[in-house]
Amino acid sequence: MTRARHALLQADRAMGLSHAPRRREADPLDASVPASLSEPAPGVPALDLPIAERASAPATPSGTARAIPAPVAHGGIAVRGVEALEALRQRHDRECPHCTTATAHTQTVFGEGDPEARLMFIGEAPGETEDRLGRPFVGRAGEKLDEMIRAMGLGREQVYIANVLKSRPPENRTPLQHEVDACGPYLIEQILTIRPEVIVTLGGPATKLLLATDVGITRLRGVWSEWRSPGGEASIPVMPTYHPAYLLRNYTPQTRGEMWSDLQAVMARLGLGRK
Ligand code: URA
Repeated sequence: MTRARHALLQADRAMGLSHAPRRREADPLDASVPASLSEPAPGVPALDLPIAERASAPATPSGTARAIPAPVAHGGIAVRGVEALEALRQRHDRECPHCTTATAHTQTVFGEGDPEARLMFIGEAPGETEDRLGRPFVGRAGEKLDEMIRAMGLGREQVYIANVLKSRPPENRTPLQHEVDACGPYLIEQILTIRPEVIVTLGGPATKLLLATDVGITRLRGVWSEWRSPGGEASIPVMPTYHPAYLLRNYTPQTRGEMWSDLQAVMARLGLGRK
């Protein structure tokens, strides 16, 4: 078996394909992707998730630099921990220029996880299920994210999960730039409060915000970058990867293999999975 095929097989196993149909011994990667994971079965509602990537969207080779909006003042040195995050959540809900004026959501979804997590995942915006439950990544994309986290040898409670926008966009559309400009600074504060060792951006909007670029996710994924806070007080390695909703829509050996390889790079950086 070639190394590439071996890697794909590993990705299958790690990313929740234990329920995949059994494959022919001779060529284990020749099997087709289960239909239930690549397209909704009849009667199953389509994904209720904001989709970061447009598979057909061309990458912008040159990339237009965009300034990260300055964070809302947080009164000096960032304090870590549950209380600091709760204070930030309350201030966000009182003051966020986007979330206090948006109308498509029923509640804000701040984020959840270990307030001192070493690893932080950042998605796009809450979808219908997240809006209903007030928690990030709890719909179908969330199940996939949970599988990914487990495949890394971690539990969901050991990482921190947040989004660029803290309220659901109408019809789950992609966040608009002015919405990101208004709500994004609270995410920046959230990152500064948690101070993870590594950030994984899930899809285009999170990657675009943190890396201040318009280059497409297909070009950026799998390559380490650095997020520098607007005030210069923090610099955190970022691994951009696909959004789990994109993975669900493009459940191919290639996408699975690429995503698993991105996560393995993160594991290596954090020293996870070493005996
Ligand atoms: N997609 C996201 O980007 N975030 C969520 O919380 C759920 C789906």
